Amino acid sequence: PKSRFNGGPKRSDDCDKSDEEEKEDKAVQSLLNKLIRSNLVNNTNQVEVLQRDPNSPLYSVKTFEELRLKPQLLKGVYEIGFNRPSKIQENALPMMLAEPPQNLIAQSQSGTGKTAAFVLAMLSQVDSAFKWVQCLCIAPTYELALQTGKVIEQMGKFYSDVKLAYAVRGHRMDRSCKIKEQIVIGTPGTVLDWCTKLKLIDPKKIKVFVLDEADVMIATQGHQDQSIRIQRMLSKGCQMLLFSATFEDSVWNFAKRVIPDPNIIKLRREEETLDNIKQYYVLCKSEEDKFDSLCNVYGAITIAQAMIFCRTRKTANWLAGQMSEEGHQVGLLSGELTVEQRAAVIQRFKVGKEKVLITTNVCARGIDVEQVSVVINFDPPVDKDGYPDNETYLHRIGRTGRFGKRGLAINMVDGQKSMEILRKIEKHFNKKILRLDTDDLDEIE
Ligand code: ADP
Repeated sequence: PKSRFNGGPKRSDDCDKSDEEEKEDKAVQSLLNKLIRSNLVNNTNQVEVLQRDPNSPLYSVKTFEELRLKPQLLKGVYEIGFNRPSKIQENALPMMLAEPPQNLIAQSQSGTGKTAAFVLAMLSQVDSAFKWVQCLCIAPTYELALQTGKVIEQMGKFYSDVKLAYAVRGHRMDRSCKIKEQIVIGTPGTVLDWCTKLKLIDPKKIKVFVLDEADVMIATQGHQDQSIRIQRMLSKGCQMLLFSATFEDSVWNFAKRVIPDPNIIKLRREEETLDNIKQYYVLCKSEEDKFDSLCNVYGAITIAQAMIFCRTRKTANWLAGQMSEEGHQVGLLSGELTVEQRAAVIQRFKVGKEKVLITTNVCARGIDVEQVSVVINFDPPVDKDGYPDNETYLHRIGRTGRFGKRGLAINMVDGQKSMEILRKIEKHFNKKILRLDTDDLDEIE
């Protein structure tokens, strides 16, 4: 019925304001992933290990007991609810806890247990009897540093003599007194100040140096140089660890500059595929008609949770309003929200409080909302020049793992231009996208 439609977004407006305006930085994405993550990410790939000394045997552990952690640490690990080391931890932990300590470069996607691993390494090396900084961890932003700090506090819960300080901007420090906390976590600029100008930290006394989120770090001008300057002040015996979710050449070059004689651990991201995904398109007469068609489709698949992608913030806002008016429980993920608000929206969707999550491309890019069974492209994904964005299409609707649940993808098409884009995407993946007749929806059930 036509009454559902109240004019729709103004077309001209909507088109020139692409979602580029919501440009996100990597640090925000990383923080979002941390805030919404509640457990380990599944990954069936093999861990690749490159040892500094190829002759030394490769140790891997299947239990935390094998690591001979301090009892209060082991208690902390179990209290958090970890039963066994994650895939990357199996190899990384024995290396990090070896005598003498080993340097490590580790790469694996977010949610695979990197933070937990280096927090354990830091807490293992710390001596609570000494009241000076022994472990130093640098992170790209204050918010990311805080998240890591929380993990340190959780795991070190039964290790009450160990104290933590945050080296972040705005944290006024008295020049004259050295920091007594054993662990410092902060951003590169402030940490550098604390080590040099303010002399609050004696870098020669650091036993463990961690550089977290290296890929995010180098995206910020200046962080790379500051990190290298900090690293140069450390003593030769200091253990150096670097972590990254991705490993493009720039990260790799940086990693090799800051970590001498490293062991290297890699866990490749699982490939996403369109196998197991049923892909359809719905032909609509006009942009206005898209909403009616969407409601028809949605009416037929109400049991499932759906994620709907729009090209612009404006369309997303409008669609969310329309669907709410129709009585749907709708979550809206928008660039106008703070990171915490966005995490809360995703969380509500994850626990099923909302059945529909509407979002723009940019807002959801790089965020791992796992296993949504129905994905609707209200607009086909295009890059900033208007070309088909195959990668985004795959990331939105693709699944990882051979045993991934079946998925359903529906593309709303409202004219020749969007049809052409979809055809190109179809050709790129060589996987049929079938026409769905909204008058006869039985076939998708
Ligand atoms: P990353 O640093 O790679 O993003 P995290 O260390 O933050 O990964 O771990 C991701 C999630 O998995 C967190 O919620 C963390 O508490 C949990 N986790 C980490 N290691 C384990 C483990 N060995 N067993 C169970 N859960 C774990």
